This record gives sequence, structure tokens and C-alpha cells, in this order.
Amino acid sequence: MNEKKFNDLTPEEAAVIENKGTERPFTGEYNDHYLSGTYKCRKCDASLYRSKDKFNSGCGWPAFDDEIEGAVKRVPDADGRRIEIVCNNCDGHLGHVFEGERLTEKNTRHCVNSLSLKFISDK
Ligand SMILES: [Zn+2]
Repeated sequence: MNEKKFNDLTPEEAAVIENKGTERPFTGEYNDHYLSGTYKCRKCDASLYRSKDKFNSGCGWPAFDDEIEGAVKRVPDADGRRIEIVCNNCDGHLGHVFEGERLTEKNTRHCVNSLSLKFISDK
């Protein structure tokens, strides 16, 4: 019944999305990527982030200061310190969210693995 529910993942994607891995900084395809469109979950295609909320954090991963309402779930990380973010639809691992860094007006940084995302252009 769940057979076709999710997209097939490459081993690299599964290592991040299902096993909560982290891609190496400055290597992801969306780290330095500022086209207009929507970032979807690579596993289930749920819309997660809008390009207008993406900013250059310099940290080496795609960064957003806001999510599409209700799309992202925050959970305490297993490390007891950080807040993990997962897709609210499929629980796929996205990355971590940090607050209080004052990088943008919203004072929030969603630090997301490119491998967790799939960009869909507006055009
Ligand atoms: Zn998902």
C-alpha cells in the first residue's frame, strides 16, 4: 500500500534524509543557488521553502529564515542541544534550525541539506 508513496532515493540522499546525515559544507547543489521558485522535499515532494526566504549565511549549506507554513517540524536533536528540522509530511531529515544569530530580521536560520531538497523553478 505504501509502495509508491515516496520518491526513490540515491544512497547519498538516503544517508541524509533517512539516516540524518549531513552533506559536506559548500558541496550541495543549492548552497549557492538563488533562482526564483520553491524548494520541495526530495522524498515526498511537499513544498518546504520559498526562494524569497533563502539567504546567504556563509555556513556552506542552503539557509532560509522562514518555512512554508506548517511544512517543517521541529524536534529536539539526539545531541540534546540543537533543534532538528524534518519534513512535516514524511519525517525526512532536513537539517537544523538556529535562532538568535541575528543574520536576518527574522533572526532564524534553517540550515538545510541540499540533498533533502528539490528545487522547482517558477518559470
Ligand atoms: Zn517529505
